[in-house]
Order: sequence, then structure tokens, then C-alpha cells
Amino acid sequence: MKFVEAQRIRNLPPYLFARIEKLIAAKKEAGVDVISLGIGDPDRPTPVHIIETLVREANNPANHQYPSSVGMLTYRQAVARWYQNRFGIELDPETEVVSLLGSKEGIAHISWCYLNPGDTVLVPDPGYPVYSGGAILAGAEPYYLPLEPEKGYLIDFKSIPRDLAKRAKILFINYPNNPTGAVAGEAFYREVIEFAREYEIFVCHDAAYSDVSFDGYKPPSFLQFPGAKEVGIEFHSVSKTYNMTGWRVGWAAGNAEAVEALGRLKSNIDSGVFQAIQYAAAAGLTGPQEIVTEQNAVYQERRDILIEGLNSLGWNLEKPKATFYVWAPVPRGYTSDSFTELVLDKAGVVITPGTGYGQNGSGYFRMALTIEKERIQEALERIKNTIGKVTF
Ligand SMILES: *Cc1c(COP(=O)(O)O)cnc(C)c1O
Repeated sequence: MKFVEAQRIRNLPPYLFARIEKLIAAKKEAGVDVISLGIGDPDRPTPVHIIETLVREANNPANHQYPSSVGMLTYRQAVARWYQNRFGIELDPETEVVSLLGSKEGIAHISWCYLNPGDTVLVPDPGYPVYSGGAILAGAEPYYLPLEPEKGYLIDFKSIPRDLAKRAKILFINYPNNPTGAVAGEAFYREVIEFAREYEIFVCHDAAYSDVSFDGYKPPSFLQFPGAKEVGIEFHSVSKTYNMTGWRVGWAAGNAEAVEALGRLKSNIDSGVFQAIQYAAAAGLTGPQEIVTEQNAVYQERRDILIEGLNSLGWNLEKPKATFYVWAPVPRGYTSDSFTELVLDKAGVVITPGTGYGQNGSGYFRMALTIEKERIQEALERIKNTIGKVTF
């Protein structure tokens, strides 16, 4: 029998990493010691006090039943307290915070709350593929906003055609940015809020990397700027901050109507996060934060080794202020795909082609700082032996 897939599934863009994954598997099969700078997933363990909280709460039968799909009040209070401590923002835990099964889940589902088939959604390119994926599944049409290096990878609102801005329902933004490592400041967020007000566009800010930052820089929250709560929400999670990507717990915070709508949608789809995990995440958010500083120092050292190494081969990269990614142009004579394949094939090093994050990522590649510095050094050595000095 042949079952025809629904149009919404067929509308999803092809999975660009499929070919790379096959190549990686073949290399490993052939006994190559593959070094992966591909996936951005913290390599260090979840802090002990978080795990201990999980174990304690997992032993309490009261936590074995269905949780609420919007999250326990204790958890939402922990999120609110974290926003207060970290950004000085007041959030009502009852109405302005909803738990998520990781922020990815909420990012994919928010489109179901605000987009009808045929609606326009503004999506950064390059960007995290879930923004457009979720919108396409809801039947909407993404309009891609190019992030250009000359503009610090910030969205240029003046370049968005007026009629398009008038049509658009949602704007996705993400700073500190995956994949470019770019950061945004007060002037940018104020412009976002002004744009959203003028065109009545709902803003979804993805702040997954607000606490992975270097050189003493502290990225802001979208919600700390005047008027943000009236026009949008922020998606966040404990994934990157406390090395908890596997735990699947996050939140959306800000605009109360959107928080309510997302909670209502979710109550029809999932039954929330295991309560022991909510308690553990709360322990991360309200516990000691030195671990975050210490971990950022580790990423910072790796960043310096990688950037200085690439620059010694002919790149001219600045050190990103945040995220654990390095975004770089491919050398002259290569495309994103051909360079990625060469580095994997000849050096056994996995990097991600920029095209995996949108058309505008073409000509770039991304490296993740989520492996030990010795392995980064080894990867650089192998790349040097493969291609030598490069030009652009
Ligand atoms: C890792 C990441 C997320 C967060 O994922 P979770 O579902 O919270 O684990 C969200 N946005 C971006 C851009 C990311 O890189």
C-alpha cells in the first residue's frame, strides 16, 4: 500500500544534512576518527545539584502522575525569579509564563496559534530551521529576511517591503544568534518593538543563548525593553545554559494572551513536562549561577583557540561575543557543500554547511565549540594539512 503524505509534510524543505550524515557514517565505518564540530549540543554534564533534585523528585510518587500542560506554578515562579535576577524583569508566573517541552516545541507550535493558511511570517535567513518549519506546517508562507555580515547580522527593517510588512503576522528573531553568533543591543530591540507596533506583527524572540556569552558581555532579554510584552513573547530553556538539552524543558514568557493561547493549544497536544524535571530545571534557575560563568570560560578558551587557528590559516574572523558557534566564509573556489564535504572527506572533521540554515547561509559554514580544546586543536591541524593557507 502507498499512503500519500499530507501536503504540509511535503511542503517542508528537504533535510539538507542527510547527505553529510551518510558521509559521516561511511567515514566512521572505515575506521576514521571523526571530529565533530557539527552539532551544537553542550558536551559537559548537567550540574550535580540539578541531577540530585531530579533523583529526589523522581522518588516522590506525587510526581508520577500527569503534570499540567502549562507547567507547575513552582516551575513558572522559578522562571519568573530567574528573569528578575538576571534581567530585572517582572513577570507574573500565573499568566505570563508557560512551560514547554523544550523551547523548540513552543517555537514550532506558536505558528498554530497565530497563522492561518496563506499567512505571511517573517523569518531570519540564515536561521534556526524550526521557525520556518513550524510556520510551513501551519500552512503559512515564510518570507526570508537576509542577515548580512555588513549589518552585524541584524535584521534591516527598512529593507522589508511595506506591503509585505503589512501582510506579515509573526516575526521571528534570535539573538544571540544561531548560526552567526551575532548579538543585538538596545537600539535593535527598540526598533523591533516599533516595527511590530507599526505593522501589528507578533514578535517571537528566541533567547536560547542569552547565557552563553564571553568577555564579560551579558546579552539582554527582549522582554526588558519598553512595550515588548505588548507585542511579543520570548522563548527560552535550560538546554544551553545548564547543559540540559536532553531533558526537554523550556518556557515561553511575556505577552499574557499569547502565553494563554499557547497553553490552550498545548493542552490539546501534550500533557506537560514530567514534574521531577520541572523541579530540576527550577533548581538550575534558582540555584548557584557560578557554574554558568565557569562554563562560559571553557567555551571562551575553545573559541579563542578556534578563531586564532582559523585566522592563522588566512581567515579574518572576529571573536563572537556569545553562543558556542563560529560562523565563517568558505575559502575561494568552494561552496558551502563542497567545502564541508572536502573537510569531512580529507580531514575527518565535521562542519555544518551554511545552506542548512537557509539560502542566505550559502558561502558559509558553522563550527560548534562543544568539544574539548584538544580536539579543536587536532581538527585545526588536520584542516591545515588538508588545505594549507586559504584565500577569499
Ligand atoms: C538549541 C536551540 C534552541 C533550544 O532548544 P530546546 O528545545 O530548548 O532544547 C532554540 N533555538 C535555537 C536557535 C537553538 O539553537
